[in-house]
Amino acid sequence: MSDVRPKMTFATDVQFLPGVGPERAERLHRLGLRTARDVLFHFPRGYDRPPPDRSIGSLRDGQPASIVGTITDAELASRTPGRSVFAAIVENETGAVRIVFFNQPYRAEQISFGMRVQVSGTPRLKGLRMELVHPQVKLLGEEESAGEAGIDPVYPLTEGIKQAELRRLTREVTGELAGEVTEVLPEGLRRRAAEALTAAGPGEDSGLGGAEDRAGAGEGSSGIEIPTVDRLPPIDVTLREIHFPGSESGLAAARLRLVFQELFVMQLALAIRRRRLTTELRAPPLAPTAVIHARILNRFPFELTGDQRRAIGEIGRDMSRQFPMNRLLQGDVGSGKTVVALYAMLLAVAHRHQAVLMAPTEILARQHHATLGATLAKSRVRVGLLCGSLTVTERREVVRGAEAGEIDLLVGTQSLLHGGLRLPRLGVCVIDEQHKFGVRQRVSLRGDDTDPHCLVMSATPIPRSIAMTMFGDVDLTTIRELPPGRGEVRTYLAHDGWKERWWSFVRQRLEEGRQAYVVAPRVAGGEAAEDDEENGTKGIVRGAGEPGEDVGAGVSSAEDISSVTRTFDELSRGPLRGYRVALLHGRMSAEEKREVMRGFHSGEVRVLVSTTVIEVGIDVPNATVMTIVGGNRFGLAQLHQLRGRVSRGVHTGHVCVFSDGEGSPQDHERLRVFEQTGDGFALAEADFRLRGPGELLGRRQSGMPSMRIADLVRDEPILAVARELAQEMIDDDPDLEGEGLAELRGQVMRRYEKRLELGDVA
Ligand code: ADP
Ligand code: MG
Repeated sequence: MSDVRPKMTFATDVQFLPGVGPERAERLHRLGLRTARDVLFHFPRGYDRPPPDRSIGSLRDGQPASIVGTITDAELASRTPGRSVFAAIVENETGAVRIVFFNQPYRAEQISFGMRVQVSGTPRLKGLRMELVHPQVKLLGEEESAGEAGIDPVYPLTEGIKQAELRRLTREVTGELAGEVTEVLPEGLRRRAAEALTAAGPGEDSGLGGAEDRAGAGEGSSGIEIPTVDRLPPIDVTLREIHFPGSESGLAAARLRLVFQELFVMQLALAIRRRRLTTELRAPPLAPTAVIHARILNRFPFELTGDQRRAIGEIGRDMSRQFPMNRLLQGDVGSGKTVVALYAMLLAVAHRHQAVLMAPTEILARQHHATLGATLAKSRVRVGLLCGSLTVTERREVVRGAEAGEIDLLVGTQSLLHGGLRLPRLGVCVIDEQHKFGVRQRVSLRGDDTDPHCLVMSATPIPRSIAMTMFGDVDLTTIRELPPGRGEVRTYLAHDGWKERWWSFVRQRLEEGRQAYVVAPRVAGGEAAEDDEENGTKGIVRGAGEPGEDVGAGVSSAEDISSVTRTFDELSRGPLRGYRVALLHGRMSAEEKREVMRGFHSGEVRVLVSTTVIEVGIDVPNATVMTIVGGNRFGLAQLHQLRGRVSRGVHTGHVCVFSDGEGSPQDHERLRVFEQTGDGFALAEADFRLRGPGELLGRRQSGMPSMRIADLVRDEPILAVARELAQEMIDDDPDLEGEGLAELRGQVMRRYEKRLELGDVA
């Protein structure tokens, strides 16, 4: 009975693959395997390897080992059903071991004199000789050297599908189809990539990022070793090796190719996008002439730091061009990004264009508005504020002024984006604290017939691999140097019995005239509520000498602020009784928040008990002590942001973190890292490693391309090479029209079509 199957193709339904049928097909579907192609690209999650090969003389009782040798004796010593014994001798040049199987009489048919085998198991000393009971036995072909065989793929499984079945199926499919897959990486490119990857090798930074610093978060590099190959293997070899490795080196090369390819295709898409941004969009050129430059710098009350000057230089160069700047300015809290942003805005204004500054919260918008207003008080620059809490009339007036060109510099919250504001002469748009926004939700504001230059600021340093992916189409400026006179911050993790001591420490600081923050987590609810400008409840400021007032009254019953109100309650009745303590959270009306912030800025309010609304940008240099309660509920980046609040002045800042309850080991690890690392970059890298990319930037930011094989943490060096080569290629051949690149171009387009649209960028 001949089995006449139609020839297998990529599209063949798994149901019709040899040995599958409808029932198994169902189960395979659960693994996402519907066609032969799916099976071919269903990669192992790991490999089974035999224990290391040992010479027989070095076997140790109880230590797993694997031996290659020849069967020199084999005997079914007892056939009695239920108590049969099969024994054989495996011998090689280093000695001989006995292998024994009880109640497996069929072994006599499998294992016979003269065979070459690899046996793996745990040896036991039996008399004078080592013995392996029920070892794994693998028959070796004539020429098969054991060291290279025996790496078996381990696939992700589902119920009803066994590892062996999947291996068999994959072997079948790989045998038929691996040779049919179209090559997307031409030979020359595979050679070039191998060269670059080898150069990037295991060594130090290898000049990949140039100035773009490795933060090396303390612990040893988790990078992978890049195998040395003279070219990446072609796709057919790659697929065979990834499923059924012929050797460790073959496997490593296959993996390298797949990872490289995945990252390279992504980087090509980003390079194409970067190029389109420069060739297809128009922006007004706003060059910093010597006069303009000097005039702007004169406005600043201090000397800029070296990093600030460098940032301004880069921004000036960007803004002189006819296409939009698309730059991310990152720097630790307090590193002085605002001045840099102000430079960009004044540059636009000097050219009679308008500038917009967008802040994530109304508090921050108001603070920027006040700071800018003060700095520009004696100038002709007209500054406006647009945010959610304005009355309809106020808003209408600001919008009118801005649209008529009477306002030069408009500060606001997201509400800038609402209502189709039209700024005819918009030259630059600055977005503060980028991480609070969705990455892709940028500005929809445009000038009349141009796009504005765009500067995004972030105080959450972005790990290199994220910078190269999510922000891969953005130029990056990093400020590392803090302005002079920055206070040092000491961080403590509270231990049992610290409460008394800590609060007495806080009281001492208050007695010295300082102010304090207390931050409590929101227990439930989404982040989005934090800057909720409606939902007003009574603001609460409890003054000295008003004991016993029912502070709970008027507070929203929502659970997510219960923690902060409870903390407020306990402190103002207990350890901080007698000091003026105020409460601040996102459920309060804008008016109430403003009132509280005013009180804290002026120093009337001595202690601010708050949710993380104070996380970003609030600048009260006299506040030098911070208590974080429920610290285990915060992420590292957030903790660091919070800490930044008490490093603003000349006084040493102090942060003490209390945890709720037990806390998981991960919580402990995170807090320990926080206590010991003051550098925001190192922390961001550590956070990235501890939590992965998704959470780091907040759950709204899912703009991360999903990787099948590459791991952005582990494979960062490969990512850097892919980025460089992709840029090189697009510089040379922007539309990938070169010989042999059609397939590659196709793959880039298929995977990244959406991202290549420019509509969602400033
Ligand atoms: P961030 O990067 O957190 O936005 P800011 O721009 O708010 O930092 O700057 C923090 C503080 O440092 C501000 O009070 C600002 O006036 C001050 N500052 C900024 N640059 C300098 C400088 N070069 N010298 C002295 N003070 C500076
Ligand atoms: Mg800031």
